[in-house]
Amino acid sequence: MNQSDVLATIAQREFVNKSLDLLTNKEKESGKKLTASVITFGCQMNARDSEKLAGILVASGFELLEDTEDADFVLYNTCTVRDNANQKLYGHLGEALSRKKKNPEMLVGICGCLPQEPSALEKIKKSYSYVDLIFGTHNLYAFPEYLSRLLSGERHICEIVDHADNIVEDLPVIRKYPFKSGVNIMFGCNNFCTYCIVPHVRGRERSRESTDILEEIRKLAGTGVKEVMLLGQNVNSYGNGIDGEISFPELLKRVCDIDGIERVRFMTSHPKDLSEELIQTIKSDEKICRHLHLPLQSGSTKVLKEMNRRYTKEQYLDLALHIKDEIPDIALTTDIMVGFPGETAADVDDTIDVIKQVEYDNAFTFIYSKRMGTPAASREDQVPEAEVKENFDRVLKCVQDSAKKQSLRWQGLVLPALVEETNTSLDGYVTGRLSNNMIVHFPGTPGLIGTIVPVRLDECRGFYYMGSRV
Ligand code: SF4
Repeated sequence: MNQSDVLATIAQREFVNKSLDLLTNKEKESGKKLTASVITFGCQMNARDSEKLAGILVASGFELLEDTEDADFVLYNTCTVRDNANQKLYGHLGEALSRKKKNPEMLVGICGCLPQEPSALEKIKKSYSYVDLIFGTHNLYAFPEYLSRLLSGERHICEIVDHADNIVEDLPVIRKYPFKSGVNIMFGCNNFCTYCIVPHVRGRERSRESTDILEEIRKLAGTGVKEVMLLGQNVNSYGNGIDGEISFPELLKRVCDIDGIERVRFMTSHPKDLSEELIQTIKSDEKICRHLHLPLQSGSTKVLKEMNRRYTKEQYLDLALHIKDEIPDIALTTDIMVGFPGETAADVDDTIDVIKQVEYDNAFTFIYSKRMGTPAASREDQVPEAEVKENFDRVLKCVQDSAKKQSLRWQGLVLPALVEETNTSLDGYVTGRLSNNMIVHFPGTPGLIGTIVPVRLDECRGFYYMGSRV
């Protein structure tokens, strides 16, 4: 951290203390404990941000609730990568209004990607004027300050900035799981895929210093964390722009060397930046999980060019097949978009060809969603809905066939599973995650949670296994 980051961190910690005093006084007046709830939309980065928001709320004296029903403060950590995420938020805000009518003291906040989009921000200000706090992705670290202002009685706080001045470390965090944690290694993205809003709402790429990342992971390991997920929009370009910084593969090696860390995952890898050094690093260290998410988006070289993905169908295929040759037990997953402007049935045939050749273990298949402000949104050759639907169904069928076939390849094997939780549908069962990211349910007691145990994968049931402890 540079000096400005350190000062910003100290200032925010003081705001946490101030909020705690204010909240204690409010609780004395009202005679009840004040509660808060954080609702998360979107990706792993948002999930990690929500753990930080929850940590700040708890350190400020709020009791955290899973549900928004009885919360005195509801904070929506939003996503805007597709239009349906925006619509989902507007639905939630409608419900919040009816609760606010019953309890006028209730506070409502919105943060994350959506308010960074000017048209969405306008809509919130105009149509949901009862929202008390709005802030974006670049100033999440200042949440303690905003919270103390809210608790001092200020309303309609709206702070959106278009770039981050600080990377603030070491604020309180409430982790969903005590034995695994996400760790941000970088923020933002420089790639400007022509359909994507992320660089516009999350800003340019900024890597954290490796010394800070490694220190954070050492501390996590000291508290019992066994698995870390290194997070960034494009982890393969980690370190770019910082003089003398180590590469992503080197960072992975150093994370694996930390005592107590038994599993390392990462998300997401842009195919254009995935190096041979990374493939060899994964291959050589069993602690690096056998799961690689390698977004394809389209199998058509023409569409990929128009998406500004900077690889061709052939380059992607070479890379994916080479990875599978080098690391045969790796599970490859991907993102596939259907309905990009100008996409023809022949382009979709190319996508299906890639799916068949790579044989993905799974794929997140979605329909192109027009995002205002991106180059693709202003194209006139948007694909008619019926055509998109037909192409989507073809792609989905192919993905499902591939996933079904691939998931069967582990049947009968004994593999280590990190036990994550008790199974809520099956009495006496627990649920574990394999290195390849598949889920296995097997008989076990809650005492196993957080441990890594060998499990025989007895029966594949589509996307998960039923197993037994060995
Ligand atoms: S790599 Fe492309 S799709 Fe991914 S976040 Fe960056 S611009 Fe968006």
